[in-house]
Amino acid sequence: METSALDGKLRGASPLDGSEHSAVHALAADDVWRLVERSRVAGEVHAARSLAERIRLLGRFRDALMSRAEDIVDMVRRECGKPEAEVWLHEVLPTADLFRYWAEDGAVALGAYEQPLSALDYPGKHALVERLPRGVVALITPWNFPFALPLRTLFPALLAGNTVILKPSEYAPRTAMRIARAATEVFGRDVVQIAMGGADVGAALVEAGVDAVVFTGSVRAGRKVAQAAGQSLIPCSLELGGNDAAVVRADANVERAARGLLWASMANAGQNCAAVERVYAVGPVAKRLKNRLAELARRLELDRDIGPMVTDAQFLKVQSHVRSAREAGARVLAGGERETRDGSWFAPTVIGDVPADEPLMTEETFGPVIPVVEVATDEEAIEAANRSPYGLTASVWTRDVQQGELLACQLRAGVVMVNNHGFSGAIPSLPWSGVGHSGYGTTNSTRAFDVLTRSRVVLVDSRRSKSELWWFPYTSGLVQAARALVVLRHRSGLLRKLKALAALLRGIMTRWQGTR
Ligand code: NAD
Repeated sequence: METSALDGKLRGASPLDGSEHSAVHALAADDVWRLVERSRVAGEVHAARSLAERIRLLGRFRDALMSRAEDIVDMVRRECGKPEAEVWLHEVLPTADLFRYWAEDGAVALGAYEQPLSALDYPGKHALVERLPRGVVALITPWNFPFALPLRTLFPALLAGNTVILKPSEYAPRTAMRIARAATEVFGRDVVQIAMGGADVGAALVEAGVDAVVFTGSVRAGRKVAQAAGQSLIPCSLELGGNDAAVVRADANVERAARGLLWASMANAGQNCAAVERVYAVGPVAKRLKNRLAELARRLELDRDIGPMVTDAQFLKVQSHVRSAREAGARVLAGGERETRDGSWFAPTVIGDVPADEPLMTEETFGPVIPVVEVATDEEAIEAANRSPYGLTASVWTRDVQQGELLACQLRAGVVMVNNHGFSGAIPSLPWSGVGHSGYGTTNSTRAFDVLTRSRVVLVDSRRSKSELWWFPYTSGLVQAARALVVLRHRSGLLRKLKALAALLRGIMTRWQGTR
């Protein structure tokens, strides 16, 4: 279902049943800077709140969201067509877990600390290291997890004292409005605002004077965001696409691998950055795996297990990848077609013998399709899996978990698993990040603070002496002292160290006499 932004309004229809959504007012790209101004004003109040107060408000925010859970589930279903179980499991439940992690580990990571300094080199000085909010964070998100994804960044961003301007996907604006409403109730006006609109509004936001950007979306848009952030010299985190691979070893538990890979490739109808998009199975296990996958795929029920493609463009892409693979000689074992039901429903598809250069193997398909390719050895499987510019998640399936771990570590991806795949995005304590075209920066875990906060060092010198060793003028005594300090740092042997210490003292004395 397409969304258009005519007459300043976002319109569209539900991919579930084609029913029209209520129109949503969209912002003109030229007006985005106004949001940034309002965010700055709100930020003065929010950043001045104590950490304890921010934690308290974050708890209330969680409660405000969870008390609306039924309404939110209903809206996510209507905007994105997800099965009800998926909305509860993938969107609401992980959000309920966010508060605890950020209130505990997040608060510790934000705490200021004294960094001890060497009394010999820096006498009379002490340093405090702090993490401060960046200021206004632009948070640009896709449609595939319209509730859980923004909140994964909103919790740490708000905890750190930032204000946030959320630019939700034009395909899921109403879910974002519910998030903003709950935030306004709890944090007050403008601490979280929505920049409603399409790509033009997102692009304008990055250039509107914000202090950091957290972007999740396609490689195409991510490149533009990175360029704009680079021009403005603001930090930027990019969570982009994937073409994730799974390696199934000859000794794998086929039943577990088939069930796990079916879920990992078809949850959210495959519209998941971490979806398994390529399976390399070693030797005869490939045939058993394909057959079992096909049996299980045929049992999936539309709407109960598998939702529709959220956009028409997405449907056409999946269809063209499958069609092209078929024409190139691939064998469809289940699905492979549009479902008979009206709308953009694509049948759960299992497909074998796909040539390596087919778009199904080389690009992100983002649909309910699992290609399985037979390879001769583990090494060949790893080499094929790594032959991709993407690197978000990957997995190895085997009964030998030690060997599995060794192989998993050879896979080029940000999250690698043995006998499971990709689910850790729902765990706030585990870093989520990719390599290559899958982007950079981290969501989840306190490493998210690298983009959401800046460091400040406050160093206080209580010495009363009129000069420091390293200040002007540069004397021969200073050179002697510096040389001795280098020796003391890197040479071993008591005698050598004693000599260096004596040279240091001599140098300091000469230096002191020279600067008197
Ligand atoms: P998209 O890039 O089309 O849009 C994402 C968001 O960016 C939307 O809000 C859109 O309006 C905005 N946007 C588009 N062009 C922009 C620009 N030039 N400047 C600023 N903002 C712009 O992606 P999509 O189709 O909504 O989402 C699907 C993609 O997201 C897939 O590639 C998927 O793999 C990726 N994704 C990645 C992760 C991850 O964690 N790595 C998670 C979810 C989705």
